[in-house]
Amino acid sequence: MAKKKLQYDCNKCPAYCCSYARIVIRKSDLKRLAKHFGIDEETARRRFTKRGEEKGEIILRHQKDEYFGTICRFLDTETRQCTIYKARPAICREFPGPGRCGYYEFLKFERKTQEDPDWVSTTWNLR
Ligand code: SF4
Ligand code: SF4
Repeated sequence: MAKKKLQYDCNKCPAYCCSYARIVIRKSDLKRLAKHFGIDEETARRRFTKRGEEKGEIILRHQKDEYFGTICRFLDTETRQCTIYKARPAICREFPGPGRCGYYEFLKFERKTQEDPDWVSTTWNLR
């Protein structure tokens, strides 16, 4: 069966998905991150994550970002690429699911409306 063509292009996107405030980390993600950086899991947990709102939940820390206010600490804010792509958490691997990305649909619509192929519509994390 032919593979379904992706309707989005992450290389043309400023990484809306990485600006999501609640990027939840599983135990297996922590293990992978620790291995990637050659540190123990507890150090990785302290260095890269913080407590989420749900009980026992841990989420990725953010850094400052010109487009979104804040964004995942692992995004290269110049190239807009993930700096730990091979070691990225499961939630990042699963998103956006097959075929389409809602953020990209929004970006395409805005670029067409603004008649500017490089237009970046911003959202802002107030934290
Ligand atoms: S928001 Fe969608 S198109 Fe943009 S980087 Fe994330 S998955 Fe790719
Ligand atoms: S780990 Fe990489 S893919 Fe996941 S949110 Fe951070 S920068 Fe984006």
